[in-house]
Amino acid sequence: TIEKKPTKKKGEAPAPPVKRPKRCFHEGMRVWVANSNTADQCRWLRATVTASGKNGKVGVRLESGEVIEVSRREDSLLLAGNNNYAEVDDLTNLSSLNEAEVLESLECRFQNGQICSKAGITLVSLNPFKEIPGLYDDTAVQRCHQDGTSKTDAPHVFAVAEKAFSSLRYAIGSPNQSIIVSGESGAGKTWNTRCLMKYLTSVALYKNPGGFSPPPVKCIERRILDSNPILEAFGNAGTARNHNSSRFGKYIQLQFDRGSHIIGASIQTYLLEKTRLVHQADGETNFHIFYQIVKEATEEQRAEWGLTTHTGDDVIFAYLPLDDGGPQGANENQVFSRTQQAMENVGMTHMHQEHIFQVLSGILHLGNLEFTCDEEFDPCELDEEVSRDSLEHACRLLGLDPTSLTTSLIYRRITASHNKRQSVFMKPCSVEESGVRRDCVSKVIYARLFDWLVAFLNKHTSANQWHAFIGLLDIYGFESFASNSLEQLCINYANEKLQQHFVTHFLRAQQEEYEKEGISWDFCTFSDNQPCLETIEGKLSVFSLMNEECRLNRQSDPTSFEDKLLAAVESPFLTKAPMGHQQSAFTIKHFAGMVTYDSHGLIEKTKDPIPMELIEVLMASTNQFVTKIIQPEQERLQELQSKGSKSKVNMTVVSRFKESLGSLMNTLTSTTPHYIRCIKPNQQCQPDLFDSRFVASQLRACGVLETVAISAAGFPSKLSHADFCQRYSMLLPRKDRNGMGSVRDRCRLIYRSLFGGDDDKENQADSSSAQQLGKTKIFLREGQLEYLESQRLKK
Ligand code: ATP
Ligand code: MG
Repeated sequence: TIEKKPTKKKGEAPAPPVKRPKRCFHEGMRVWVANSNTADQCRWLRATVTASGKNGKVGVRLESGEVIEVSRREDSLLLAGNNNYAEVDDLTNLSSLNEAEVLESLECRFQNGQICSKAGITLVSLNPFKEIPGLYDDTAVQRCHQDGTSKTDAPHVFAVAEKAFSSLRYAIGSPNQSIIVSGESGAGKTWNTRCLMKYLTSVALYKNPGGFSPPPVKCIERRILDSNPILEAFGNAGTARNHNSSRFGKYIQLQFDRGSHIIGASIQTYLLEKTRLVHQADGETNFHIFYQIVKEATEEQRAEWGLTTHTGDDVIFAYLPLDDGGPQGANENQVFSRTQQAMENVGMTHMHQEHIFQVLSGILHLGNLEFTCDEEFDPCELDEEVSRDSLEHACRLLGLDPTSLTTSLIYRRITASHNKRQSVFMKPCSVEESGVRRDCVSKVIYARLFDWLVAFLNKHTSANQWHAFIGLLDIYGFESFASNSLEQLCINYANEKLQQHFVTHFLRAQQEEYEKEGISWDFCTFSDNQPCLETIEGKLSVFSLMNEECRLNRQSDPTSFEDKLLAAVESPFLTKAPMGHQQSAFTIKHFAGMVTYDSHGLIEKTKDPIPMELIEVLMASTNQFVTKIIQPEQERLQELQSKGSKSKVNMTVVSRFKESLGSLMNTLTSTTPHYIRCIKPNQQCQPDLFDSRFVASQLRACGVLETVAISAAGFPSKLSHADFCQRYSMLLPRKDRNGMGSVRDRCRLIYRSLFGGDDDKENQADSSSAQQLGKTKIFLREGQLEYLESQRLKK
């Protein structure tokens, strides 16, 4: 078992940062100096130490020739190593381990067309924003696979897939694997997940006598691959950050038999961003499928779905922002025929497809219903003139009764209890309230349609039994915007969970390597993020208070949510929003940074209320497909009502998300994990552009810099005995250079003559010692290699 710092209780201060040996700067040492020009994308500048300086400052000469004094703090001054950066394919093997070196290496490799690097057990994959010829083609699959044994160890997404695939057979203990793909929007998670699926479905076939070829239509591999375009059509949209952004998280389990052949797959999705259906930010679009329909439907379909007006023009839909081609590149995601073909391949009949497209067009027409009233706040009615056609089409396509639909939109049902007697009455709604109810109906239908699709795909692709699985997790990365709400809170909570899982696993892997080499390391220096998680999801926490507020269901309350929260939950991870923040808000200190969440509207979103009378209208539909997809929602609401207000805490958005994430974490913990961190090299989505400031912030947010920091806190530099002798023998007095004895003995001689040290004590269980001699490698503390290098330069 790994030794970790004991979990701290609520209210305790976070653990002190990892304690590291003091850094020494000698004249002639090469260093990195933080670039004070923050407008420049380049984060660190090369320099050479000219004087060790006083008052915590160090004198350096920049490459431009300028000599300056800089603070010796780690955010200003870092040690530079001596690497052939493009050739270092594992960042933890960099001779100096710090942010500047990591960035330099990633950039050199990126500009060289090598978009992938390893960081210990993690694969770091940069998005090239261009095709790199041959990188993901069938030859690359074959090369990587080489008959089931992984001979290539070069960093590549296929190599990760191969490692997981071969572990299915050779793993000791549970054969199940998972590949966790994370990164910010547009970083390439979905792209890499597709590559993993392509690889895994191909190698499973590759073993077949038929040889290597794309999977034929009828086979399960094809069906699994075809679930992608369907999910993307319904769940992806164009956003400011990515023209094909997944608006849901997904976990796909590929199921294998004993012979490592794929026999099925199951999909679990998380948090579809259903508000996008009714509202999109400027320059963003709705889900792709709607554009596919309105742009590519045949004449016959257009008539059937009411996409053309009496005068022959295209109907303009309120839910679809006027399409000026959408965000760049959006069109490539809008191929209706491809979606239809994929639907057919996974086994959806024409009738199914017809039903689905009818519902989608019905939703578009619903969105065009408008309400009107004489005076503001007066009861409203349907604006007949504007909405007549839309109402007719929506009701025809969704099988609804126009009068009951209209009534349910403009009246709210209120149940009041008085003297143990319940009375029900209808309260007229304002124009705004009716609009909210209309959008609520649309969102329920769409969300339930999405669930139905996922269930359909599972039914048609999942095997009943399997020997082992490889799970692929494509889930949103850490988010911090100018304004953050429930979505960000859930996403960041998920990332916090995944980070904890990662750190636990990483520490174990690190410990295994040190143990194999027979050296000791103090594991207690690293703190975990359990206290932050406690603050979010614990017994008395952000989530518990949110649920409590939902349960109390108060209409108006003078005390703001953040005041109640801050009074109830005492934690160093939860604070008031910083001064100057406009709205009522609170701040959480996540491992990846501080995020301020707006509490305005938070509780309403958490409740996600769906009035029963709206569901009843939908359940009265004459369209059986509609009642089929809505039925689970009705059952959920009925269960809620029958259990009374007490059970409501279990039904809020956060409690449901916490539950599904909990079960995901249990699954992940039972597997051997592999990690892929996707990085976006610049915000403009341009090829060949490396913005090192932007990259650094992502490396921090996805834990790569933390991995490096943990490595640096141990013995960040490791060299084989032979390499060490060859490079540093010259530092010995001439008479000792060609000494006798094993390479290991010579290593010991060299470092002892340079650093001093006791005889035969180098490997005693004193993990604080400066360097340790392992069985095959020598392990050095941070700064020692740089010191050796500066000594070499002097010779
Ligand atoms: P989101 O969180 O918004 O869903 P994402 O991380 O899933 O984002 P992707 O959709 O996978 O991002 O990638 C965005 C775009 O970047 C892709 O549509 C593709 O054009 C490009 N891209 C990503 N990875 C690669 C790659 N390895 N090679 C070429 N292009 C790529
Ligand atoms: Mg995606």
